[in-house]
Amino acid sequence: MFKEFLFPYSQAREGQDDLILSIYNIVKNKKNVLVHAPTGIGKTAAVLSPCLAYALKNDLTVFFLTSRHTQHKIALDTLKQIREKFNQRIIAIDLIGKKWMCPVKGANKLNSTEFADYCKAQREEGKCEFYSKTIQKNKLTVKAKKILAEIKEKLPLDVEDVIKICSKEKLCPYELSLILANKADVIIADYYYLFNPLISNLFFKKSKKSLEKSIVIVDEAHNLGSRIRNLLTTKISNWTIKFAIKEAKKFDKKELIEKLVKVEDALLSLGADLDYSEEKLISKKEFVDKINQNYDYDEFIAELEFTAEEVLQEQKKSFIGSVANFLSNWLGQDEGFTRILSFKEVKGQPFLSLSYRCLDPSIMSKAVIDSAHSVIAMSGTLVPTSMYKDILGFSSAEEKNYRNPFPLKNRLSLIIPRTTTKYALRNEEQYKKIALLLADIIKVIPGNCALFFPSYSLRDSINKYFSLFCLRHILLEKPNLTKKEKASLLKEFKSYKDEGAVLSAVITGSFAEGIDLPGDFLKAVIVIGLPLEPPDLETRELIRYYDKKFGKGWDYAYILPAFIKAMQATGRCIRSETDKGVIIFLDERYKWKNYLKCFPPDFNIKICEKYKEKIKDFFQYGWGSVFG
Ligand code: SF4
Repeated sequence: MFKEFLFPYSQAREGQDDLILSIYNIVKNKKNVLVHAPTGIGKTAAVLSPCLAYALKNDLTVFFLTSRHTQHKIALDTLKQIREKFNQRIIAIDLIGKKWMCPVKGANKLNSTEFADYCKAQREEGKCEFYSKTIQKNKLTVKAKKILAEIKEKLPLDVEDVIKICSKEKLCPYELSLILANKADVIIADYYYLFNPLISNLFFKKSKKSLEKSIVIVDEAHNLGSRIRNLLTTKISNWTIKFAIKEAKKFDKKELIEKLVKVEDALLSLGADLDYSEEKLISKKEFVDKINQNYDYDEFIAELEFTAEEVLQEQKKSFIGSVANFLSNWLGQDEGFTRILSFKEVKGQPFLSLSYRCLDPSIMSKAVIDSAHSVIAMSGTLVPTSMYKDILGFSSAEEKNYRNPFPLKNRLSLIIPRTTTKYALRNEEQYKKIALLLADIIKVIPGNCALFFPSYSLRDSINKYFSLFCLRHILLEKPNLTKKEKASLLKEFKSYKDEGAVLSAVITGSFAEGIDLPGDFLKAVIVIGLPLEPPDLETRELIRYYDKKFGKGWDYAYILPAFIKAMQATGRCIRSETDKGVIIFLDERYKWKNYLKCFPPDFNIKICEKYKEKIKDFFQYGWGSVFG
């Protein structure tokens, strides 16, 4: 069986064999599937192997799409193991964003639109030496052909290796990778290669691949909806316009300066009734009318685009181009989008931002799902699969839910309903109560403990007391940590595994997703409160939209996303068969019917007041002695 499905290991784990067979049947029957498979099942190999086996026999391409670079490596390693075990030649290409592959110094500092404009201008003007050494008169140069052949022999290669080889040879890694993609059996890439219309159209044209002949695996699919919404959202602010005016002055565009000042005036007059931290909806017409009062909207976009091209010949970035891009996106469709004007103070300055925001990711994902041979959306937290089926726009798809493969007796999951972080009940007394409760729980945890709060401000309000009550070393996560700072904090935390320290972090911060703390490095995760923020205007619009579309606005736009974030954070605790730990949800709302029903059945969640005895017994005598 394993050979038929190119499964590279000698044994399948619990659930893995079923997953392999199901996936093979899905692709064989040209169907789609959503898979919830918790950490430990080995879903990358169980999904990639049968897809590849079927694709090789049927002249299809497998796209393995993921939002994280670490997942690229896992997919590549699986392919290397398949190649070794079955002596199977596999052409696999690893792609990251073009600007991250670009060897031009400073290119990765530009935002995506700026980079796209810069790269286009450089190529068209014949100014990029990497491109000219790669492609001449639409054909590969002799040198590029030679290096391409050398790379082919080494595949599958990590994208970093391809970048290194090409940079050394002064070739464009992106262009060479696209040529390689033409013959590829597997393409490992970020979501936006297929889910951003601008990139996907160009990518398919250049790689000569087609969606119809592709099996698309979406890894960490719980992130796909928000990623697409971000991709399809555009913004402009009074700051962007100010920079564009400065640019117009630099390039001596007197007429344009006047027009840009009028755009700034238009924005300011639309926001005149807003105070700091306020926001309101703006219609397409309101903004267009303001611009049209002074000059023709479409002609103005053309003028901005024309000047931006001139600017990009001299510099990498054009704010005039950003204004043009926004004005043209503003004219986009209404259905599935909203338009918001918000006003806040940033660095002591007024910041007025107008945005055209996507609410419905299926605007993009549905087209991919409907065209591809098969789409497999998988994740360790794709619960409930029915919600993702709706919001991503699957018209038909199977739903597969796998239980946690690790022994249930190794995990104690408790709801302690003694406190709450509900907005109306937030006060010093409540903070103190939570801090006391946390310190009391931590006393009986024999090792490291991670706390996840809904926000930094709430964490700090509670930490004021907690740091007085808790005798252990406390490591506080700061916002926007760099990779290096994050690694060093984790290293320090791990060094406390014997005496036990506390990592005090935030659900939306650096530690709730994508980190592994196996074995004795983490003994307990405590999620404090529900990570629900008071719904801002965008969330209210999303609730309205999903109410109209599915009758489930609050669930899809508010409650479930918060619950999923909490679940994601608890996933840091048990990462292997032998890990043993406690997961605690500290808020009375978790025992409410609406939230309780969201826990997957294999979570075995218990509501518990006498937590201390239970935790002690669990670590001393095992799960059976607690609830046996
Ligand atoms: S053509 Fe290649 S090397 Fe040149 S700017 Fe674009 S991505 Fe960078």
